[in-house]
Amino acid sequence: MDFSYSPAEERFRSELRTWLQTNPPGSEPENLDAWIAYGKAWQRKLYEAGWCGVHWPKAYGGRGATVLEQIIFQEEMAQARTPLLINLAGLTMGGPVLIAHGTEEQKHRHLQSILAAEEIWCQGFSEPNAGSDLAALKTRAVLEGDSFVVNGQKVWTSFARYADWCMLLVRTDPDAPKHKGITFLLVDMHSPGVTVRPLKQISGEEDFNEVFFEDVRVPRANVIGAVNAGWDIAITTLMHERQTLTFSRQLQSRVALKELIGLARRHPPATPAAHQPLLRQKLAAAYIDSEAMKYTALRNLTNVLRGGIPGPEGSIEKLLWSEMYQRLLETALEVEGPYGQLLKTSPYALDDGKWPHLMLYSRGRTIAAGSSEIQRNIIAERVLGLPRAR
Ligand SMILES: Cc1cc2nc3c(=O)[nH]c(=O)nc-3n(C[C@H](O)[C@H](O)[C@H](O)COP(=O)(O)OP(=O)(O)OC[C@H]3O[C@@H](n4cnc5c(N)ncnc54)[C@H](O)[C@@H]3O)c2cc1C
Repeated sequence: MDFSYSPAEERFRSELRTWLQTNPPGSEPENLDAWIAYGKAWQRKLYEAGWCGVHWPKAYGGRGATVLEQIIFQEEMAQARTPLLINLAGLTMGGPVLIAHGTEEQKHRHLQSILAAEEIWCQGFSEPNAGSDLAALKTRAVLEGDSFVVNGQKVWTSFARYADWCMLLVRTDPDAPKHKGITFLLVDMHSPGVTVRPLKQISGEEDFNEVFFEDVRVPRANVIGAVNAGWDIAITTLMHERQTLTFSRQLQSRVALKELIGLARRHPPATPAAHQPLLRQKLAAAYIDSEAMKYTALRNLTNVLRGGIPGPEGSIEKLLWSEMYQRLLETALEVEGPYGQLLKTSPYALDDGKWPHLMLYSRGRTIAAGSSEIQRNIIAERVLGLPRAR
């Protein structure tokens, strides 16, 4: 890895920084419906200015940026505390999967609308009895003429309520070995027979949903790759999720650490946490974690951007980041002391109650995109080459 920036890359950074200064995203609304409208408008603005999908090929609406420009882009966005992009599933999974496995027609149909947030995507993989063991999925799709007829249920589908398209894993050959009879379908969420029911989280949000499919007709042309060959595409999708998505999140947690150190310098007023030996140790450990994470993430991202497709090493990054982020937020609550019990709604909350909120939200991070136990199995078997777990 070479960390020096060329004059062209420095120009790229300063152009983006100037753009972000003159086009700040504004504060994020609390209400989810309002946040969705705000998120769409923000992503569209980025797209129109050429700042969305910076590493995607120009032919599909991207900027064709280099590896380092992509890293600079992520750094500047995190530094400017811009909100997570609304079409995250489309940008980090759907788009890259289409670029790698889609037909030209599918690419032209979807890629630009993903970038402009004209159509929001969601990921319909997990089912009530198929999470870690994803290949146990039971949602069925039966070919009738030129369409598949889909029946079944998905769960934990983030943002399905607002999604226009779903990357759906379905069983198309129930007699084949379980990894062989799966197909990757793109489903229009406005199709008759699709019902979405929101689920409430501990943090109060309703990002998750259950999605029911009842005789939903999906054109055969919406298959990504080949029928019954969806498992490998699902794995590519998950590797993108574990790695590309984690990269931007670890940058945001670095910003969060900086803010936490700021809080520790002023709270509690009598003896700020930054002067208390045990909390100082924890803050220092969080800083060391974040440096280790930074270089692991850069090394993995460089491989992805050079080779196009992430590998199982993304599990190292996902595991490190999600566990480190939870430790960081537990430390934040220790720094807050009794104030850590006050949520956003309390006028006495510190930093607008964001630390307890983030802490509650972070609990899901060691589950989403594969739990920590599953990441450890992947690292053991596919990165270190240890014998398979029984
Ligand atoms: C914030 C968040 C967002 C999500 N968004 C989506 C989404 O948009 N789309 C989607 O499809 N899914 C989504 N999910 C679901 C997620 O992928 C699953 O929750 C996850 O794969 C775990 O599956 P499960 O919940 O069924 O748990 P289970 O698989 O039932 O696991 C239960 C426990 O058993 C452990 N376990 C299971 N198998 C093994 C094993 N072989 N070895 C060791 N331990 C094991 C697990 O680690 C876990 O602790 C999301 C989840 C979260 C938390």
